[in-house]
Amino acid sequence: MDYFKEREAEINGSLLAVLSGENLLFLGPPGTAKTQLAKNICQSIKGGNFYNYLLTSFSTPEEIFGPLSLKALEEDEFRRKIEGCLPTAHIALLDEIFKASSAILNSLLTILNEHKYHNGREIVDVPLLSVFGASNELPEEDESLEALYDRFLFRYRLAYIQDDENFRTLLFRSPEDFTPCIQISVSEIEEVRRSAKSIPVDSDVEMIITELRKNLQLQEIEISDRRWKKVIQVLKVAACSSGCPAVDRTTALLLQHMLWNLPEERETIRKTVFELAVSGGISTEKMRHEAEDLQAAVSIALKNELPAKAVCDSCGEEFHLRQEIEVHHISHPNHSYILRIEGSSEGSSRIYPYENLIREIDNLHENAGKKSTLSPAQKEIFEKEFGVLGDRVKHVKYRFEEERELLRQLMEANIWLSTLDRNEALLLHDARNIELSEIDALISKYQSMPGLQSKQVQPKQQSIKEDAKVSVPDNGNSVNGFMKGIGSRFKLK
Ligand SMILES: [Zn+2]
Repeated sequence: MDYFKEREAEINGSLLAVLSGENLLFLGPPGTAKTQLAKNICQSIKGGNFYNYLLTSFSTPEEIFGPLSLKALEEDEFRRKIEGCLPTAHIALLDEIFKASSAILNSLLTILNEHKYHNGREIVDVPLLSVFGASNELPEEDESLEALYDRFLFRYRLAYIQDDENFRTLLFRSPEDFTPCIQISVSEIEEVRRSAKSIPVDSDVEMIITELRKNLQLQEIEISDRRWKKVIQVLKVAACSSGCPAVDRTTALLLQHMLWNLPEERETIRKTVFELAVSGGISTEKMRHEAEDLQAAVSIALKNELPAKAVCDSCGEEFHLRQEIEVHHISHPNHSYILRIEGSSEGSSRIYPYENLIREIDNLHENAGKKSTLSPAQKEIFEKEFGVLGDRVKHVKYRFEEERELLRQLMEANIWLSTLDRNEALLLHDARNIELSEIDALISKYQSMPGLQSKQVQPKQQSIKEDAKVSVPDNGNSVNGFMKGIGSRFKLK
């Protein structure tokens, strides 16, 4: 594998595509060693025929499917001599594949879809395992080319060598000729595919895929049901050939190479796949938002309570909430106000224009130091909400810590992941764990605030095991509902 620098993911993907009988597309500039890569993959197959062709818009069916048989023509039959051409290949690399003319496309699609070639009156079963397509760019809007693009389940974007050291090796230390370390026969490949069918899929993978689909739909990335079905089959082949007993969530990391349509979707999909696979489908971001929403709600509630009763000096209206003054100021921008501070005669005579009043209220809040002005009913709601959320965060955090080693081991056992993927997944796991600690600390801080003290919430020990498989109950709605409640109570925008 050292032979191809910086191509670990592509090599893994190519082998997995061959094993699972799917096609793979390389998108990128010429001169990125695609031909060499595809050729060497083919060398890993016992008796594998390799076919390689660079398409142009002038390419004719003769060049791809074979020349017409003159002998057959003499007998009034239209047949091609297919030996050595695409219909007899196990692995084919078609460069500039989207330049295929319509004369070629129909037969090509039949080969890709049905693994059959119509040679005159004869229908030939083609031995094709995978087609590797390569192109500089995506097809222009054209229905038949889009159909062709859709046949490529694996999609990789190739770039030139990035690392200086690897670049030097490529130029000046030419490695010995590539010899595959193992060879696999076609019947062995068929055997892998057969056994893969009965491999179970872990329930958290089901959840990851459901979440992922929802998530991508929100970003207007639509993936056909047919594609999802093929994807699952590939994941099963990946697990089976890794010797894993089931499709676990580390296998789901491979989804990053099978779902994007446009290159610009690639990073989004990769990110989403990693987030979901690492956290088992639980979004820490969502929990952080919930914690932040709660904080916001508390500070709105706290600041809204005035430290002293305010009265409009112009029309005599009395106010208990800052919100009410703001509303009053919008309809009567020229009115000024008096503050009635209890036990103080001094403040009551002073008249404040609106801006000064707000400043004075802020000063009073600050001087008072304690922000324990929540009503008992509010306190109760906040306590409950913080308690529920804190509980959930602690659950997930506990699970995360328990699972790091497991995740590492699963990834180690999964032969299809690149080193980069493994490292990134662990880094992400650590980052999420830190984030959970932060959210936890945030919640504790608010829980211990004066006026908001509640009993220390302990994680419920009994259901942790179950939660490792099933998701933690989602209380997102209750917080949202709560926020709406607060909003309508204070007539917030
Ligand atoms: Zn007024």
